[in-house]
Amino acid sequence: MTADEILAFDREHLWHPYTSITHPLSVYAVESAAGVRIRLTDGRELIDGMASWWSVIHGYNHPLLTETLQKQAARLSHVMFGGLTHEPAVELARTLLDITPEELDLVFFADSGSVAVEVAMKMAIQYFHAAGQPEKKRFLTIRSGYHGDVFHCMSVCDPVNGMHQIFSGVLPEYFFADKPECRFSDEWDENDITSFTELIENHHHELSAVILEPIVQGAGGMRFYHPQYLRRVRELCDHYNVLLIADEIATGFGRSGKLFACEHAGIVPDLLCLGKALTGGYMTLAAVLATREIGEMISTGNPGIFMHGPTFMANPLACAVAGASVKLLLDSNWQKQVSDLERGLSEGLAPCRELSSVADVRVLGAIGVVEMKNPVDMEKIQPAFVEKGVWVRPFARLVYVMPSYCMVQEDLRTLTDAICEVLEEEQSQ
Ligand SMILES: *Cc1c(COP(=O)(O)O)cnc(C)c1O
Repeated sequence: MTADEILAFDREHLWHPYTSITHPLSVYAVESAAGVRIRLTDGRELIDGMASWWSVIHGYNHPLLTETLQKQAARLSHVMFGGLTHEPAVELARTLLDITPEELDLVFFADSGSVAVEVAMKMAIQYFHAAGQPEKKRFLTIRSGYHGDVFHCMSVCDPVNGMHQIFSGVLPEYFFADKPECRFSDEWDENDITSFTELIENHHHELSAVILEPIVQGAGGMRFYHPQYLRRVRELCDHYNVLLIADEIATGFGRSGKLFACEHAGIVPDLLCLGKALTGGYMTLAAVLATREIGEMISTGNPGIFMHGPTFMANPLACAVAGASVKLLLDSNWQKQVSDLERGLSEGLAPCRELSSVADVRVLGAIGVVEMKNPVDMEKIQPAFVEKGVWVRPFARLVYVMPSYCMVQEDLRTLTDAICEVLEEEQSQ
């Protein structure tokens, strides 16, 4: 197919994330990708700032991951996980348990981040059902969060910028504490936790779990909040016998400067959701890590089993690549790479602060965010980035990047310069 044929058929028949069928934004056809570069079918190369939504931490087409995938495909691409097991799943689970707190002892593999969040929420409900407190089946979360696009995930996404209006009457209604206002490196203000404290105090008898993104709120606003907030949440959950689900699907595997964002606060969740970067961006895979106590409690209840089992659970291809990706990360100098990116992003995006259209510039780990005062005009801004040879995909008021850890300073500079220039040109139009 020629590039034009690909684009023409795509435009007629394919849905893209969050798009209109009648007024779609333009899409670009990709021929291949390697390292931090995406190659379009028209021959242009773009320096990728998005790591395909947090996932491609080692760069595209990493020789080791590609080889692992090919070898695994030649041996065992898939086999049902009901009644059967395999080394890639066991090896990956062992690695994940090694690098997470020892309280987490059980691994459930799921097909995507959204499914992992659903699984964690179901585990929380089954836990209290088995514990003889079936009335504890609702959830508390914080505003400005994002947990995925399927129904129960949507029900704990931010109720304003999420999809609560359209799906009201279908989505279960849960509790939302005010979003944390204290920023990551601000001085802690105890008032920040008041709204959360009131809600858990008043509703703990009907709550199974609190679910939140630790430290970094991703797609719900790209906000970085104070570790003390998370410590208080942990204390309150313990005090009121409510489980804590940490959704580290975006933050896991080094992105925020720690291997897992919970480490910024030194807390251990009862359930931990991982996804996105788990396979280095090769394919979809997610995992829920749980304490042994949760697993054992669920198993004492009725029906004594956890009620979930996806067809492609623990897919061997995905597990093999994930195992290799996590080991690659651990063997790398990711702390230095991420802190170099943090510095480069801070310096490179700083000039945006001078623009009157910009509300805020913030950086944490390998995440750089320029928050605009008004939503960007995607129809204009997207081609402007491509013209400058970079791939940046803003949404609403947020222009943000989270590059692969292997991005060198020179490419990072090209990326941040392009952001500064495009935003300045937009402003002066
Ligand atoms: C992306 C994301 C999800 C959903 O993951 P999918 O793989 O897109 O289903 C859930 N939680 C967080 C924090 C995410 O960033």
